[in-house]
Amino acid sequence: MFIRRLPKFEYHAPTSVAEALDQLSLYAENARVFAGGTDLFVSMKKREVTPEHLINLKGIKELKHIHYHVADGLRIGGLVTIGELERSEIIKSKFCALQDAFKVMASPQIRNLGTIGGNLCSALPSADTAPPLIAMGASVKLTGSKGKRTVLVEEFFKGPGESILEHDEILIEILIPSPPENSGGSYFKLMRRSAMDLAIVSTAAFLMMDGNKRVCKNACIALGTVATTPIRVSKAEKVVTKKEIDEDLAAEAGKVAAQEARPRSSIRASESYRREMVGVLTKRAIMEAYKRIIYDS
Ligand SMILES: Cc1cc2nc3c(=O)[nH]c(=O)nc-3n(C[C@H](O)[C@H](O)[C@H](O)COP(=O)(O)OP(=O)(O)OC[C@H]3O[C@@H](n4cnc5c(N)ncnc54)[C@H](O)[C@@H]3O)c2cc1C
Repeated sequence: MFIRRLPKFEYHAPTSVAEALDQLSLYAENARVFAGGTDLFVSMKKREVTPEHLINLKGIKELKHIHYHVADGLRIGGLVTIGELERSEIIKSKFCALQDAFKVMASPQIRNLGTIGGNLCSALPSADTAPPLIAMGASVKLTGSKGKRTVLVEEFFKGPGESILEHDEILIEILIPSPPENSGGSYFKLMRRSAMDLAIVSTAAFLMMDGNKRVCKNACIALGTVATTPIRVSKAEKVVTKKEIDEDLAAEAGKVAAQEARPRSSIRASESYRREMVGVLTKRAIMEAYKRIIYDS
């Protein structure tokens, strides 16, 4: 595909959230914020969007934090890059499903530019951070001219490229609850090639086991790229809840997840292949989460 230069725009570089919100209100529909620009600049070169004013959020230091406290959970500023998160020791040790996602995203160069906020705000069904965040019960904190609001990641997406984010709002923080005792998660992504590709299908599973690590008290399973938004598969979750986990049960949950998925055929994969792969990946994600609980903690 022929990719052109960026269209002309006026550049703005606020250093605080308040300043960025003022600029968003002032330039209204003619303005667009960006962070790493790894999604937005591609869309601009294809002339899918042609904002007259570009507001660079990267100078806002208050949105670059990674804070963990047992009581509050993990708080990630909207401008933290995927690369920084991939290197975070607390994420490696306590939020494995998210770490799995970072490892299979794009390339090191893109990960060092692209942010977790940008990944969510692009609102693609294939966004790699979405399924693990949904499975872990994460929320996003948004701020705009009408004030602040906190919304579950599960409720953030509306359709391909569409979210509940209002034009004058900025995603400032991602909040992930502390994982309870005897819990664990994992994320699996199927790509056409082994790196630098978007998902054909992706699955995240998060399990909470009882004190003996035998019975699954609660399960959350989320899928990417098999519907117009990332989705949760509640019937598959019920298959494993209040049961002892084993390969057969995980395979059964996979079958149910495949029925709940709403994939479509595209140039990248057929509907039936995606559906079948939902079954395979869901089984793998459940078994990997379970093994991590058993062997890692
Ligand atoms: C070669 C290549 C490979 C890629 N591979 C993957 C992949 O494997 N998996 C994957 O999920 N993605 C992939 N991507 C997509 C992209 O890199 C990620 O989605 C990245 O995380 C986007 O972050 P960003 O900061 O660059 O977003 P930007 O491009 O800066 O912004 C994206 C959108 O979000 C909005 N936005 C950004 N930050 C905020 C904020 N804080 N508040 C409100 N709105 C905001 C912008 O207005 C824009 O609409 C790839 C991209 C490229 C170019």
